[in-house]
Amino acid sequence: MVGPTWLYAVAAALIFVAAIVVAVVQAGGSEDSPAAAAGAGAQQSEPAADGAPDQQAAVQQAGAQTAAQQPAPQQQASTPSTAEPDETPADPQPAAEPEEETDPLLGFTMPLAGACVSGQAGHWPGAARAYRNDGIHEGLDFYSGTACIVVDLSTPVLAAKAGTVIRADRDYVDVTPDDWARFEAAGFAGEEILDELRGRQVWIDHGRGIITRYAHLSAIAAPIFAGVRVEAGAVVGFVGESGQRESYAAPGSDLHLHFEIRVGAGWLGEGLEPVAGRALYLAAFGLSEE
Ligand SMILES: [Zn+2]
Repeated sequence: MVGPTWLYAVAAALIFVAAIVVAVVQAGGSEDSPAAAAGAGAQQSEPAADGAPDQQAAVQQAGAQTAAQQPAPQQQASTPSTAEPDETPADPQPAAEPEEETDPLLGFTMPLAGACVSGQAGHWPGAARAYRNDGIHEGLDFYSGTACIVVDLSTPVLAAKAGTVIRADRDYVDVTPDDWARFEAAGFAGEEILDELRGRQVWIDHGRGIITRYAHLSAIAAPIFAGVRVEAGAVVGFVGESGQRESYAAPGSDLHLHFEIRVGAGWLGEGLEPVAGRALYLAAFGLSEE
């Protein structure tokens, strides 16, 4: 019994010492913080007696300002994407539109509100253009009588998909009889003359090698300049007949929209029969064969 009792005594002594050590350590560790807390509390409470309402009001005002300011940065963040598209597309677009997810030749809307795709073969991509010496039509025409709507000088031309305007012929000069004589002398050959024949144009870059062209326009819409970002359905201009002989020889007799979907260096339907090219346009607009 002596052994265990002695051991108990030693154990009790060790526990007591340990408890003292713990108490000392705790006291030492907390020695500063209660004092600091008390000092801080005293410092806070003294001005708080007079300034608490003002401070609370200031905090509330600051909170209100922060809340009021929060939408502003979001607006500022979205504004450059519409006003300064040249900088923003590089980063956000690849993340927002992974190339694998959507077919770039689908998802277009009609460039004229309420229009349909002409059933007349001469209006289709790939159709012959005899006056241009074996020329080939590289787009789709929308005329009154075949486009399901009236198409005239007051008809707005709409962006067929969101994108960035890369060309807007705001300083376009109408072709003259002398120009036409020059075209004929050249046999309507060459991309430069072909471009003149499309008249006043707007081009929109939709990324991934897809560009839409809107040709023969009578006017360009006020907000449309090269570099402007547009959404699908935005008015880019108005139907006309610029670039054609009729524009001076018989004004008002050939009003229509010539619309092209360009694909890389070529055009939608290139190398195909016109009926097959038309089918690609129908698919682009989400329409089925009639
Ligand atoms: Zn055409």
